[in-house]
Amino acid sequence: MRIKFIAGNWKMNLTKTSSIELARAIARAIPNNVEVGVAPPFVYIDAVASVIAGSKLLLGAQDVSCEPGGAFTGEICVPMLKDLGVRFCLSGHSERRHIRHESPDLVSKKAHVIYSAGLTLIHCVGETLQERDSNQTLNVVRSQLSELNPTIISDPNRLVIAYEPVWAIGTGRNATDQQAQEVHAFIRQTLGSMWNPDFASRVRIQYGGSLKPENAKGLLSQPDVDGGLIGGASLKADSFLAIVNAAV
Ligand code: PEP
Repeated sequence: MRIKFIAGNWKMNLTKTSSIELARAIARAIPNNVEVGVAPPFVYIDAVASVIAGSKLLLGAQDVSCEPGGAFTGEICVPMLKDLGVRFCLSGHSERRHIRHESPDLVSKKAHVIYSAGLTLIHCVGETLQERDSNQTLNVVRSQLSELNPTIISDPNRLVIAYEPVWAIGTGRNATDQQAQEVHAFIRQTLGSMWNPDFASRVRIQYGGSLKPENAKGLLSQPDVDGGLIGGASLKADSFLAIVNAAV
């Protein structure tokens, strides 16, 4: 049985005060039988960590350096995240791939740095509108999954795949239940051939892209949709918690 995992990606939003308030409101309302996490901007992680201490809310990071530490001005390494109590970290978010032009090689390095440090890895994959329109969705997703090395990643409980069609992120236009299920099933099948079917059956596959309270029930009840990665709707406790409750 896969426990659903709902994660909020706050991106470059909020203030220290509003981060603390939001984290506190979420932490005190988490129902049973669902995992919930938030990924604040780096500079607010420590403040959020102190208000959620002792709660079930998992602390995450949106990005990390591929380097272990040292002379890399402006970067944050994975031991620093662990030091603050971070439990999961994203790799390959479409804003890193497409706006910051992170290469598949860099995304892959970050993914393995995150996993190897003992954190849960949320590896994001997804096609652009142009790729969908030219029937490339499954090829793109397969190639982004191939950034993961099965000889390094051995614990299915610490691997999460987020399927996030780029055309759905922050646009208000979500994948339909059927579109999401089709790609999620393909992801599980691909993980099965990269690792094995038992491993694949334990990996959580989140949907992300304009997930909101109105569409959460439909998407989250698809057989291969094991949670969500939420941007815009994670910035308000009411909307985020409505999605969390739709997952139970
Ligand atoms: C995201 O950026 O991961 C995301 C899913 O954003 P939104 O929910 O705003 O579409």
